[in-house]
Amino acid sequence: MTLAVVKHATCTGCGCACDDIEVHTDGARVTRAVNACELGETWFRDHSPNPNLPPALIDSKPASLADAVALAADLLHAANLPLIYDHGYSTCEAQREAVALAESVGGIIDSYTSQCHGPSFVATQLVGKVSCTLGEVKNRADFLLYWGCNPAETHPRHTSRYALHPAGKFTPRGRRDRTMVLVDVEETATAKDADQFFRIREGTDFEALSAMVALLRGQPVDERRVAETGFTVAQLRALLDRMKAARFGVMFFGLGLAATRGGHGNVGAAYRLAMELNAFTKFVALPMRQHGNLVGSDMVLRWTTGYPFGVSLSRGYPRYNPGEFTTTDLIARGDIDAALVLGSSAAPGFANVPTIEIGPKLTRTGTIPRVQIATAATGVSAAGTVCRMDDLPMPLRPALTSALPTDEDILNRVLAEVRKKPAWYPQLKGEAQIA
Ligand code: SF4
Repeated sequence: MTLAVVKHATCTGCGCACDDIEVHTDGARVTRAVNACELGETWFRDHSPNPNLPPALIDSKPASLADAVALAADLLHAANLPLIYDHGYSTCEAQREAVALAESVGGIIDSYTSQCHGPSFVATQLVGKVSCTLGEVKNRADFLLYWGCNPAETHPRHTSRYALHPAGKFTPRGRRDRTMVLVDVEETATAKDADQFFRIREGTDFEALSAMVALLRGQPVDERRVAETGFTVAQLRALLDRMKAARFGVMFFGLGLAATRGGHGNVGAAYRLAMELNAFTKFVALPMRQHGNLVGSDMVLRWTTGYPFGVSLSRGYPRYNPGEFTTTDLIARGDIDAALVLGSSAAPGFANVPTIEIGPKLTRTGTIPRVQIATAATGVSAAGTVCRMDDLPMPLRPALTSALPTDEDILNRVLAEVRKKPAWYPQLKGEAQIA
């Protein structure tokens, strides 16, 4: 047993990507993750390499890696419309290979973003946004508004490391220099940290935020319509006064805003409010992103195709259309005839098509994929880059080594096999690939 300690490791347990973790190992498994929250500690322990994992399974039977890679390439190449789907836990390097593979097979590439903060991207494209890094939040923000999110449970170190509690350059007394307001449909664990909690009626975020924009502009609002949101006009005015009085205000919003009815309208209203507050003070709005590197997936897709999720490469050039090229819609219409999933494919939606699963845990229950390939876990035994929720790239410092290849290696091997076959679209023969 070789005891080892790796300092400044990055946790990919959630979108905070905390890079101050001290990981203790016994050479085979993670034994402690100092500074990590409970979620992060569990993440490191659960993703220690499993020596009993076979390198690959075909139809649930152990198979050689070469056979699994060859079958994966055959399935994707033979499909009319294959989907490459990313759960958001792979490195940016692997995600780049996934884009190249989608292009080579003329498929669609999408990620879990389409099921969570996809509407936030649509809102950005419609309205624009004012943003900043978490470092600026820590050093400057003196007013925090959390809307439709519960960081105490989903991002346990968000308030202690980046937002509410740490001493910053212009907030040297930490918590005492900041005001925090929470707006949500129920009083969650985060409410304990808040100076003020507002319970909003479910499904009325757009109305409340739009009323705030109107009040900010000095326009009249209908008191009865505002009352339907759970706020009074006086409460909205008082909240706006606090926001305007801040030196640097931040609104963090979660799936309560983005993944509910009219999500893009809700987030668009939040972005407009933050933008217009800049006539009075500095104010920004940031989404609370989950899954360790889902932001990386969006970033890589944007660099390579110009779009963040739901991108079809079936005509040889990128096309973007949420609702058409997004996973749940593709599955519901039965449009795809093969899928490669980075991460778990246990979701029942993939039951009807031959599926290839690449990831550190092989599905044993529910929908069993045709091909399963085990890989080293991102950040625990696989190196690379991930992006934090504020888009900042963070290097990984894996504390363990694994005999298994990385997601990037496997995608690269599948891509090489696909490229040996006839090009799916004659015009692409010999052309430079996107990634
Ligand atoms: S807050 Fe998120 S990134 Fe930070 S230690 Fe906890 S799970 Fe890991």
